[in-house]
Amino acid sequence: MIAITCAPLTLELRTTFRIAHGASDQRHNVLVRVAEGVGEAAAVAYHGETQAGIMSYLDSLGGLDNDPMMLEDILERLPAGSQAARAGVDIALHDLWGQRLGQPLYRLLGLNPERIPLTSFTIAMDEPEAMAERARASGLPILKIKVGSEQDEAMLSAIRKATDAQLRLDANAGWSREQAQKWLPRLAEYGVELMEQPLPVGDIEGLRQLRALKSGIPIFADESIKTARDVAAHAGAVDGVVIKLMKTGGIREALRAIHTARAHDMQVMLSCMIESSVGVTAAAHLAPLCDTVDLDGPLLVKNDPFEGVRYEGARLLLPERPGIGVKTRE
Ligand code: MG
Repeated sequence: MIAITCAPLTLELRTTFRIAHGASDQRHNVLVRVAEGVGEAAAVAYHGETQAGIMSYLDSLGGLDNDPMMLEDILERLPAGSQAARAGVDIALHDLWGQRLGQPLYRLLGLNPERIPLTSFTIAMDEPEAMAERARASGLPILKIKVGSEQDEAMLSAIRKATDAQLRLDANAGWSREQAQKWLPRLAEYGVELMEQPLPVGDIEGLRQLRALKSGIPIFADESIKTARDVAAHAGAVDGVVIKLMKTGGIREALRAIHTARAHDMQVMLSCMIESSVGVTAAAHLAPLCDTVDLDGPLLVKNDPFEGVRYEGARLLLPERPGIGVKTRE
């Protein structure tokens, strides 16, 4: 029997993280271990998940009596429940797989690390001038701007004046159909590259209508998409989907979701929740398969206990150690 163990992992944020869902200074994640493999589960508030709920799901699993190399068998048999907890187990098993075979995960997946797109860096909601200052100070070429407040127009114009960076917007389900229909055709004025989740989860018809406006701004679904099945359900309604390990329940289903998107000619953005280097490095191994990348979790956190993927500006450098390749920070 191989034990599955877990421990709380509380992350302190560098700046208050305010988006359309609410604001936070801390995130309460969970570290998962399966033998020498390590994984992370980040509670997704809009899935109703909590650190305590994730830990009780993991404790209830006890351990594995299968061969840990039989990932499909093990993951298929995990009981329904927290997607984040399932992601934690899935990541730890992929880490273990790579460690036992002596290869980094991206190599086992046959991927070329030079094909990883540059990552965006998130500017959370604040007063327009404060957001503009953060955008300028980052010095980074691609910014993801959180919108969905009364000040959207003021913040967008302040940021546009402060930087030449590529801008991606994320409303986190915070706009109504009317707001989105008004805003979308105007985003080109600000040089916006794409728009994430303008409408509430479930409003596929609203997304379809927005896309029919042909505003020239690609629309991506994020909160609406968990698994490959959701990707298929959004075919034709959006230009792209946002894949996160914490939504898919791990690497296995993320790969299925990516391939499903490709089968429907959709673009793929790979993203993360606020996670330490464990969760984000695991995701980064899949990044060569994606068009756009938003893997800035460790840059937003003050007390990351691990090191893994490294940042050279907006460039992601994967570790060469076996498995996902993270180690405890010294
Ligand atoms: Mg998003």
